[in-house]
This record gives sequence, structure tokens and C-alpha cells, in this order.
Amino acid sequence: MLKKKKQKPTKKTSPKKNLKNLIWYTLLALALLSIFSSYFTGAKGPVSKDFSQFMEELSQNKIKTVTIKTSENLIIGEEKNGTLFKTHFLAYPELINDLKTKGIDIKVDPTNSNWFWSVFLQTVFPFLLIGFLWFFIFRQAQGANNQALSFGKSKASLLQKKDKNKQTTFKDVAGVQEAVEELQEIVDFLKRPKKYQALGAKIPKGVLLVGAPGTGKTLLAKAVAGEANVPFFSLSGSEFVEMFVGVGASRVRDLFKQAEKSQPSIIFVDEIDAVGRHRGAGLGGGHDEREQTLNQLLVEMDGFDEKASIIIIAATNRPDILDPALLRSGRFDRQIVVDKPDIKGRLDILKIHSKNKKFAKKTDLKVIARRTPGFTGADLANLVNEAALLTARENKKEISFAELEDATDRIIAGPEKKSKVISEHEKAIIAYHEAGHALAAKLLPNTDPVHKISICSRGLALGYTLQLPEQDKNLVTKEEIENQIKILLGGRIAEEIQFSNNSITSGASNDISKATDLARNYICNYGMSKKLGLRKFGKDNPQVFLGKDYSDHSKDYSESTATKIDDEISNIIETSYQHTYQLISKNKAKLTKIAEVLIEKEVLDSEELDKILLTKKKKTSRSVA
Ligand code: ADP
Ligand code: MG
Ligand code: ZN
Repeated sequence: MLKKKKQKPTKKTSPKKNLKNLIWYTLLALALLSIFSSYFTGAKGPVSKDFSQFMEELSQNKIKTVTIKTSENLIIGEEKNGTLFKTHFLAYPELINDLKTKGIDIKVDPTNSNWFWSVFLQTVFPFLLIGFLWFFIFRQAQGANNQALSFGKSKASLLQKKDKNKQTTFKDVAGVQEAVEELQEIVDFLKRPKKYQALGAKIPKGVLLVGAPGTGKTLLAKAVAGEANVPFFSLSGSEFVEMFVGVGASRVRDLFKQAEKSQPSIIFVDEIDAVGRHRGAGLGGGHDEREQTLNQLLVEMDGFDEKASIIIIAATNRPDILDPALLRSGRFDRQIVVDKPDIKGRLDILKIHSKNKKFAKKTDLKVIARRTPGFTGADLANLVNEAALLTARENKKEISFAELEDATDRIIAGPEKKSKVISEHEKAIIAYHEAGHALAAKLLPNTDPVHKISICSRGLALGYTLQLPEQDKNLVTKEEIENQIKILLGGRIAEEIQFSNNSITSGASNDISKATDLARNYICNYGMSKKLGLRKFGKDNPQVFLGKDYSDHSKDYSESTATKIDDEISNIIETSYQHTYQLISKNKAKLTKIAEVLIEKEVLDSEELDKILLTKKKKTSRSVA
């Protein structure tokens, strides 16, 4: 919750203020109108008369002319002495006769007598309204525009001139060490572009930071600018969406111009998915503002000089929906994953955000770090702040463990966190699942070494086991594919072995889908299945049209073959499952050991894993279930 509040106030004119202005203008306009109308209608307006008085004056021959306003049931008349009057019109036949016999000039007027208003409403008012709205919108647009045009500039110079120890640097970021290491190179380039240019080295133009909301992508981008001490031009994709036609594109143009003038510099496009969505997905995809902005961005990225020392950093939490054009080489071809922090990372982040706050002597942040799996940096910052607020509410001077715990509970129970937070039990399940993958990979022959196991969520997956080949491979053997399928199934099998068959989870869905794909390729593309033989089933690259392929043209075999393929896929997976189940249940002690250490540390590298597997079941400390 707090996170959102923090991000919003960059806007200079709040909508509330605009509304207030609008109301004031409207009131002013109405006041002016009423003055005008009373001037026109009031001063020379006819005097009201009772109907009886009118009848009497009629019989006394005082009336000269009458106009019957049928639309309003009014009679407007002129007396012989020249005074104008009005009265209600009663449509009784004698009246007309009377008027006729008195020889009075009768006019009938079906239009509205309130001429000022009617003329006004019909002619002037629409123009006024349009003008008024135009003025208002224009002001707003200009406001946005000004903001757009000056935002980069003012912000950049602000960041540049801030004294050095107030700038955001890598010291303000924790728990994302890998991302920091990768960005270090960018910093070095921005500091000493000549060094790289002299060597003719090409530095990536665009760097895409990918990670869940709140993991510190924006913070990292600012830290790069702070470390390199260069101007930082920032704009946010979601701002474009609110803009008026053409503004987005022109803002991009302007931004690049400014950045070019003050190079070395950084352009930061936050939430790039808001503009960088897949173009033309959806039939008849329109040529809208977003698309124009995206095109302009691509044009600018391609346009600037190879030698320019401008780095474009973009951030997104949805790399999957980005337009492929953005990811092409020469654009955002380097992607850096910003992960959710592990237990140690969380401790470091808590420390950073506790720096300027007073804590009671014996507060142990480690316990909080252990209690907060699945928390992002923003959640942790929020946690510390919430604890400080609680402390203030209780009129205490120092934040103690109780408030930190209380704040943790609040955030876990909060609407934003509820779905994302990982409970102790879920953590155990994820640990066993990943341990299952890792153990299978370790026990099966000729598999790639396990590089890292993590039960911190990365993107959509809750945990991951990363295997890296020792060298590049261009060919995959039959055995490797079979092992790969077994490793994929290992996660689910471990869940099954440790917990009961009834409590297996949906966590394996991605594994199952990958295993199925592998088995299909094994049969249909690689001809590795004896039953179906050396044949290719299905076409590659079905024709792509309208941006994306919506139809399935790929089937080029009979229904009975389809059944055979289906059966064979099931067969391969079933056999692999049986084999892996045997393997893991025979080594259950090892599985437990890996899982327990994972629960404790959340991340294991290859060496740690080897150590665990070497120490032959010394002690089985506690069992988690
Ligand atoms: P994102 O851009 O990924 O959504 P932000 O960079 O806006 O996340 O993070 C919001 C705030 O959360 C930051 O200003 C910072 O206070 C805190 N924060 C997030 N990640 C970290 C981190 N890795 N280390 C320290 N603080 C962090
Ligand atoms: Mg952000
Ligand atoms: Zn898995």
C-alpha cells in the first residue's frame, strides 16, 4: 500500500487541484452570465400584470398590441402609453374575440421569449463551452507537456548537482548482488567512455531490468546514475498512456535530444511494458498513441550514434508481453534479472532501511529476515517504516522487536501481500520440490551440473534449480532428453514422497508442460521413439500472419497417428516417472537433507550442494512438514 503512495507524488498538479480550478472557473462564468442576462432582460423587461388587470385595461382600451407566446403561455403586450407588460395567457376563445373587436394588433410567437437565454444557449453557449473546455484541457495538456519536457531536464540537473553523498548508489541497494555486478560494467563505461571507445568496444545501448514490482529496479537505475555521476533522464511508460496524441512521441524525441547534449548520460524508461506491448497482437491492431511512442523510441534507439555514450535502461515486470522489436540486438539486448532477495539479502535490506532509525538495543533483524520469505525490497522498506509508525503511535522512543513483528504481520495480512507471501508450509513444499529436481540431476548420469538451487521466487516460478552445461552444446543425446524429463518430474515426485499423494501441489505445472514438450519433440522431431520411427510429425513454423499465429496448421498426420503419438508421450513420461520415483525414494535421506538446508538458507550453490551430498546422513535434525 505504502509503496504506491510513495510512487505517485511525482505529478505536479494533482487531479484534486485541477477539479477545484474547474469548479472556480465554472462559478465565475455562471456569475458573469447571470449579470449579463439580468442586464439584458431585467432593465428593459416588461412588467408583470395580473390577468384580471390585463382584462380591465383591455376593456378600458389601454392596450396597443399583444404578442401571444404560445410556447410559454405568456402574453407580452404594449400599452398605448408605451409600457411593456406581460401576463399569463388563458386560452379562452372570448379573449381573442375581445382583442379582435378592440382592433388590437395580435401576433403569435411560438418561440421562447427568453431571448437572451435562448439565443445564448443556441449560439454563444456552445462556443463558450468548447472554448472553456479547450482552455482547460489545453492547460492540463500543457501542464503535462511542460512536465514532460522539463521533467527530464530538471530532474537530471537535480540529480547531477546533488552533493555526492546524497545520491543513490549501490550502497543503497542490497540483496540483488548479481544485478549489481552486471550493472557495474555499465557504470564503468559511463565513467570512462573513452577507454571503451578507444578499444572499439561496443557497450550495450539498452539494458532491460526484469523483476517483480518492488524488487528495486528503479532504485538500481538511479544507483547506476549515482555511481557514474552522470545525468539521469527518466520517464515512465505509464505516463504516456495518459498523454494526448503525439505528446508521447515528441517527448521521447525531446528526451533523447537532451540526453545527447549532456552525454555521458542515462535515459531511464520505467515500466516500459506500458508502451512496449506487442504491436499488432489482436486483430486489426490500431495505430494508437502507445504504438507511436514505441515506434519513436525504436527510431531514437537506432538513430543515435554508435559512439554516443548514452545508456538506456528500461524496467519491466512483464518481459513476456514486450514487443520483440524492443529486444532485438542493438536495442534492449541485455537483460538483467532483479530477483526477490534471499534470507541474507533481506537482512541487508532491512539493515539499509534501519540506518536512520532508532532501535532498541537487542532487536534481531535476522529473525525478521527469516520470517519474510517472498518479501521484496519495497515490502521490507515498508515493514521498517510501518514499525516506526507503530512505535510513534505508542509514544515509544525506540523501535523494538515487537513492533517489527507486528508490522510484519500487518504486511503479510495486507491485501497486497496476501496472495504473494509464502507461508512456512509452502516454503517447505517448495524446498522439497526443488530438492527433488536437484537430487535427480545429481543422481542421474551424464547430466549438466547443478549450479544453483533457490526457493526465492524468480519471476513466476516460486523456486528454481539452475543447471548449467560445462561447455556449449549443439547436439542433445537421447539419454540427455530422457534425463531432462526425469529431472523435471523430480520436483513433483519429491513432493509426493515427502508429503502425501493428496497434498501434491500445482507447483509442478510448468515442469509437466516442459516434460510433455520434450517428449513430443523426442517423438515428433528427433525420431527417437522406436514405436513411431524416423519420421517428422507436424510442420515447423506454421505461417505467421497478423502479428501472431492464432491457428493451428501444424498437423500433417492422421488421427490414428495422433493417438499413437499421444500414447507414446504418456508412455515416456510414465516410464520416466517410475524410474525417478525409485531413484528418489531410495535416496530420501539426501532429499531431506537438501530440503532442510534450503529451508534454512533459501539458496544453495553447487559447492554447498556437493557438501550436503557427501556428508552421509550424519544427523537428521528436525523434520519439516
Ligand atoms: P521497482 O522499481 O522494482 O518496482 P523500486 O526501485 O521502486 O522497485 O523500489 C521501491 C523502494 O523499495 C525503493 O525506493 C527502496 O526504498 C526499496 N527497495 C526495493 N528494492 C530494494 C533493494 N534491493 N535494496 C534496498 N531497498 C530496496
Ligand atoms: Mg519501479
Ligand atoms: Zn519444478
